[in-house]
Amino acid sequence: MTTEQATTPWRIPLADVDLGAEEEAAVLAVLRRRWLSMGEVTAAFEADFAALTGARYALAVTNCTAALHLAGLALGWGPGDEVIVPSLTFVATANAVRYTGATPVFADITALDDFSLSAADAAARITPRTRAIIVVHYGGHAADMGALLALAERHGLDVVEDVAHAPGATLDGRALGAWGRIGCFSFFANKNMTTGEGGMITTDDDDVAARLRLLRSHGMTSLTWDRHRGHAFSYDVVAPGYNYRLDELRAAIGRVQLQKLPEANRRRRALDALYRELLPAAAPALGVPYQQSRGIPAGHLRPVLLPVGADRARFMGEMKARGIQTSIHYPPVHRFSYYREQGNATPLPLTEAVGARVVTLPLYPGLSPADVESVVSAAAEALAAATGMEMEMRPLVESSAAYD
Ligand SMILES: *Cc1c(COP(=O)(O)O)cnc(C)c1O
Repeated sequence: MTTEQATTPWRIPLADVDLGAEEEAAVLAVLRRRWLSMGEVTAAFEADFAALTGARYALAVTNCTAALHLAGLALGWGPGDEVIVPSLTFVATANAVRYTGATPVFADITALDDFSLSAADAAARITPRTRAIIVVHYGGHAADMGALLALAERHGLDVVEDVAHAPGATLDGRALGAWGRIGCFSFFANKNMTTGEGGMITTDDDDVAARLRLLRSHGMTSLTWDRHRGHAFSYDVVAPGYNYRLDELRAAIGRVQLQKLPEANRRRRALDALYRELLPAAAPALGVPYQQSRGIPAGHLRPVLLPVGADRARFMGEMKARGIQTSIHYPPVHRFSYYREQGNATPLPLTEAVGARVVTLPLYPGLSPADVESVVSAAAEALAAATGMEMEMRPLVESSAAYD
């Protein structure tokens, strides 16, 4: 433990980063090399990431939100187009569609124990204006890619994967992010691997990759690094591109984090298996989604569903009183003011049910099995309080105490 470690008010936080001497050495090496952006380290990080996913191209970007924006631009989304997205996701999934001028059309999730986009509900929302579907692999668990890709193919739609929760996860031996036309990854601080802020785009498509590369860097036809190496002296600008590049410092951290990812994900899966074993016994009234998942998940989140009528704020407050941080993944995007004002009043019954009842428990590689046990027993106590069971139990305890 270093003296610089940040203090947290939580005995068990929701998530935690694993950064050590290797990341420090990697950053220091970049600082000493004095080439800070679009250089060899970023290229190596991209090559490493392409190898992980099996994708032909991997392009490092500033964050996953930028990745999703570039994906939409590269696929030509614009005003009048519709893109089907889940509502049970981080808001960036839908916001990125809006950046292109296209309209996000929200579709429901599959079931109360599978929070990924429902292919059947997505099918019901296809119109002549639909261009694409964005699939989110919620919590690190693969969505039903077979059904979603078949649907997309029938209607000539692109599939973009939001893989923010699922780097390193596979389905039928193929990496998530390599199923759709484009995969968008996040390296934000609370994700399975982090560079602070950061992201990656993967694709097998030559033309899409070329467009992504242009748009990532101002729409310029040659890059700083090529000019530095004397490969080019000038450049043209062929589109009003962006500066969505990742820097060498973050790429250096990313390379180390990527090496740690397989073992970190294995640990997440083992801890999640312990949750799945202990929760139903300790708190039978709690819903435990993803008792089964497709393929090999990344173990990003451990959600539970409170019973109908339970007081979620009370549950989370009781967990907090026991030093345990919890969260909500997610408040449904279609219910936010902005999206309501856009006229998205469509009811999404399963999404709304989960949005009202879900609580996310701590899950990260540094958690110990004993920590999981204490989260589970705290959850059982918190649930008793949140469902009023505690009030009925207390007099029993007191009356038996009176006979002692
Ligand atoms: C975190 C997250 C994003 C945004 O990632 P950033 O790298 O922070 O831009 C997008 N989608 C989902 C599902 C996320 O969890």
